[in-house]
Amino acid sequence: MSIVSTKQMLLKAQQGGYAVVAFNVENMEMVQAVCDSANKLKAPVIIATSASALKYAPPALFAAMVYAVAKETSIPIALHLDHGNSFELCEACVKAGYSSVMIDASQQPYEENVKLSRAVVKLCATYQVPVEAELGHVGGKEDDIESENDLGTDPIQAAEFVKQTGVNSLAVAIGTTHGVYQGAPKLDFERLSSIRSAVDIPLVLHGASGLSGDAVRACVSRGICKINYATELRAAYTAAVRHVLLENPEAIDPKIFGRAARQCVSEVVLEKITVLGCEGKA
Ligand SMILES: [Zn+2]
Repeated sequence: MSIVSTKQMLLKAQQGGYAVVAFNVENMEMVQAVCDSANKLKAPVIIATSASALKYAPPALFAAMVYAVAKETSIPIALHLDHGNSFELCEACVKAGYSSVMIDASQQPYEENVKLSRAVVKLCATYQVPVEAELGHVGGKEDDIESENDLGTDPIQAAEFVKQTGVNSLAVAIGTTHGVYQGAPKLDFERLSSIRSAVDIPLVLHGASGLSGDAVRACVSRGICKINYATELRAAYTAAVRHVLLENPEAIDPKIFGRAARQCVSEVVLEKITVLGCEGKA
């Protein structure tokens, strides 16, 4: 199939009570691993690139790879900008063919967050591209931004924010953290349920790497319909490369460790899709 928007994909998940998985990719092997695995499970999937991935390779290059790989599959695939940190980056992505963007101004004061999110919604409307924003703040290290304060999303403010900005989905802060967890995470399920009652658009969970299957399923049952994974894929990829190079110190062909890394990422993707219940939902 060709590239589709996340709008219908997430509304369908919301109605069906499951979550679509967004996987952050850094290179061609990860694009192939995500698309091939989702295709095997007949699951809709979101390929996401962060702002730092887009410093490594431009949006047009990721878009060309994802469009080429998507053509060989029979599932809906969306190409999403994760944690867009400026209006300009969002614009560059939609112009390059991205079918979904996130603008993240959650570190800024509320009014600034509203202003920037609303501007991106207006921009994306001309391209019929849906917009995700974040309110409250998911802690930890996301890309180059490190945050200490873990600020839970306020349900009443969330309803106000959605009304003022017109965003299509909302990333909420309920105790998850980006990166690797030190100790067991404490998720605020009550807060999630209150946000769900106050807001009717699809809700997104960031910082899911390291959460148990039961914890993510509990979030899905309380209204999360998009879950992001980045850290676990990076870890799987890099562990495979390290293993191959330690075993074969004489290796000079990048395809040898590229293949092994792609295989390990595929396994993570198969597991996440199965756990979140979107197998067969394509
Ligand atoms: Zn995130």
